[in-house]
Amino acid sequence: MPLVPLRPLLEASSKYGFAHGAFNVNAVAQAEAVIETHEMFRSAAILQGADLANAFMGGRTDFINGTIEDKKIGAKRIADAVGRVGANSSIPIVMHLDHGRDFESVKAAIEGGYTSVMIDGSSLSFDQNVELTREVVRFAHERGVTVEGELGVLAGVEDDVFAETSTYTNPMKVCEFFKRTGVDCLAISYGTKHGATKGKNVKLRREIAIASMENLRHEGIFGVLVSHGSSTVPQYIVDEINALGGKITNAHGIPLNELEAVIPSGIGKINIDTDIRLAVTRNIREFFVKHPEKQKNAVIGPIWKLMEEKADQFDPRVYVTPIMDILTTGKETDNPDILAVIDCIKRGVREVVGTLIVAFGSVGYATKIENVSLDEMAQRYRKGRA
Ligand SMILES: [Zn+2]
Repeated sequence: MPLVPLRPLLEASSKYGFAHGAFNVNAVAQAEAVIETHEMFRSAAILQGADLANAFMGGRTDFINGTIEDKKIGAKRIADAVGRVGANSSIPIVMHLDHGRDFESVKAAIEGGYTSVMIDGSSLSFDQNVELTREVVRFAHERGVTVEGELGVLAGVEDDVFAETSTYTNPMKVCEFFKRTGVDCLAISYGTKHGATKGKNVKLRREIAIASMENLRHEGIFGVLVSHGSSTVPQYIVDEINALGGKITNAHGIPLNELEAVIPSGIGKINIDTDIRLAVTRNIREFFVKHPEKQKNAVIGPIWKLMEEKADQFDPRVYVTPIMDILTTGKETDNPDILAVIDCIKRGVREVVGTLIVAFGSVGYATKIENVSLDEMAQRYRKGRA
């Protein structure tokens, strides 16, 4: 089926009390593996492209400096690829923009085929955040596209999203934010953190989610809360990477049982990025260690060289650049070495995504999600029925 808006997935998670994982992708093979795994578990799928990931997909290795033109190319490329896979899929699939930084980025994503967008105005004042978010909602809802906002500041690094310290979301402001902007869901700051260094023994402030949801219920407003910075950073994967020559230190995530405990408090979408990066890095390292002759291979040897130079890093975008063209375009290849690397990527995705689909409880809900097209959704917003 064609890509669907996020809204019906949010409604299902709210009705049945489970959460959808939302998984960041930077390569066509990753997108395919995310979708295949959700099909296997009969769960709807949310794929995310971060603003800068769109620049990377647009062909920029220095994606930090990506222009709006790069993002447009990248957004269309990934949405087209996901749309192609989705066309033959029986599950609902959403393509969501993660951390849209301004109106232009959001527009580039929607025009490229994204069916859901986040606008992150969390670094602005409350009123400016409302203003920007409302502008995005107006543009997106006219096209049936779902919108996620953000209130409160998360510490940590995610692409160019960076904050030194967290400011917890004020639950008294959540209701006002939904009312004034019309967003469908909202990322809150309640103890999670972007990146792999979340510190030991994180405790989430579930009461922030509970209070926010109570306020919304009182006012009869539909809303779902979103958990960012929620990677679990599986310790076994970190240990394996380091045993294979990696140098990752101080890596800690959100304990899985903490995440499972917040789902009944109104968290219906949980963003995961770091875990996939870690699993992919472990698999590619393992491949090169098991096949040392490939370390000097003309085509994929340069990947190993970059991995060794940057042994403390685990973002595949810093070391897969030698075969980036194939990864971002999804172009067919019969080179067995490139196929071996792609297989490492796909297996990493399956391991993480499968684990979390089960943990977040979305198994089996694909058929319970209302089948709403973008046009139908736009009509609903117009009539004020959404
Ligand atoms: Zn985030």
